[in-house]
Amino acid sequence: MNAPLRRARIDLDAYRSNLDLVREWMDPVEVMAIMKADAYGHGLEPIALAAVDAGVRWIGVLTVPAALRLRAIGVGEDVRLFTWQHDPALDFRDAIDSAVDLGVSNAAELQRVVDAVDQRPARVHLGVDTGLHRDGATAETWPDLVALAVDAQRAGRIEVVAAYTHLAESSDDDDSAAVALFDAAVEQAEDLGLDIPMEHVAASLAGLERKEFRKDMVRMGANLFGMPGADGVSAADLGLEPVMTLTASVAKTKRVPVDTGVSYDYTYRTTSETTLALVPVGYADGVPRRAQGRVEVSIGGRRYPIAGRVAMDQFLVDVGDDDVRVGDLVVLFGTGEHGEMTVLEFGAAVDSIGEEVTCRIGARVPREYVGHEVEGRVGSWLRGDHHHRDHHRGDHQARGTHA
Ligand SMILES: *Cc1c(COP(=O)(O)O)cnc(C)c1O
Repeated sequence: MNAPLRRARIDLDAYRSNLDLVREWMDPVEVMAIMKADAYGHGLEPIALAAVDAGVRWIGVLTVPAALRLRAIGVGEDVRLFTWQHDPALDFRDAIDSAVDLGVSNAAELQRVVDAVDQRPARVHLGVDTGLHRDGATAETWPDLVALAVDAQRAGRIEVVAAYTHLAESSDDDDSAAVALFDAAVEQAEDLGLDIPMEHVAASLAGLERKEFRKDMVRMGANLFGMPGADGVSAADLGLEPVMTLTASVAKTKRVPVDTGVSYDYTYRTTSETTLALVPVGYADGVPRRAQGRVEVSIGGRRYPIAGRVAMDQFLVDVGDDDVRVGDLVVLFGTGEHGEMTVLEFGAAVDSIGEEVTCRIGARVPREYVGHEVEGRVGSWLRGDHHHRDHHRGDHQARGTHA
């Protein structure tokens, strides 16, 4: 039987297993499961439902619209949804009414939150910039943010849930300095009359390597997808399982003579009479052009380099005299168990990281969900049992790929 032309297989049991392991490591510290960018390209809803079924209490999704998508499919308010990047024109009303937690970085943004409050107080996490210079108040703007938070909390318009920061992970010393700044900011807030019930600082790397940075909660993304970020550490070394496997099937084969130029620009020439196999994934699907000569794909347990340019929709591999046929499964990355590259190896090969690779797998690649969670709430979501305006669309296998 032919394999599907192209497919990203998402193993929800692997995600669940990683989650259980990470929670065990972090215990008793709370774990927030980070699922921004459509769960690192794996599909927000299925990953979130699997995580909720596994008992996750905190999910981080970056934006309010993503959080509202989860509320809309039945992720209840007992699961906290943290968001921290807000459209400057966003009306916060729906977020507040749906008890979405808001990371807030400056007084103007907090004022917009306060102004949107109607029935219930807004749940606010105050961001501290400790050197990454993305979100968060600087040492200069922090006192104003805190002062406004004190007033708004006294007026019953907000509930300050936490203070948080995000680290540059540049070096241990830099991160230590950043956390010292964070601690000082929390202390200053308390001096200004603000109680900070919770602190969260560390993501995957610091959460694993810097126990003292775990505070009350760690925000874990990469680890849960089986992509630990530490140099030279594989997922398997840690007992984490890669969640996504990217495959295609051989679409055509062709026998060609020696010295045949292959693909655009003839950057590759055959060195003998050989067979070329056409793999129908290209840069539109997330295989970068620079994968040429760097990435090896696995067919029948053997590895073959990409021969010639990666095109928008396809590339070729030179399989020599091997018996490779139309319909044969091509594994671009997976668990590594059958000799294929892992996503960490694939990422390193193209001078990137696993997260960028999985995030960039194109919308044209159907996500196929496997694992026992697919039987439950994930299954009913995939079948479209949740009647919500955003989810009456197309092929269910591709649902996880929008937004
Ligand atoms: C992406 C992100 C995380 C998770 O990072 P990982 O390294 O994938 O664990 C945590 N916190 C914030 C603010 C992020 O942007």
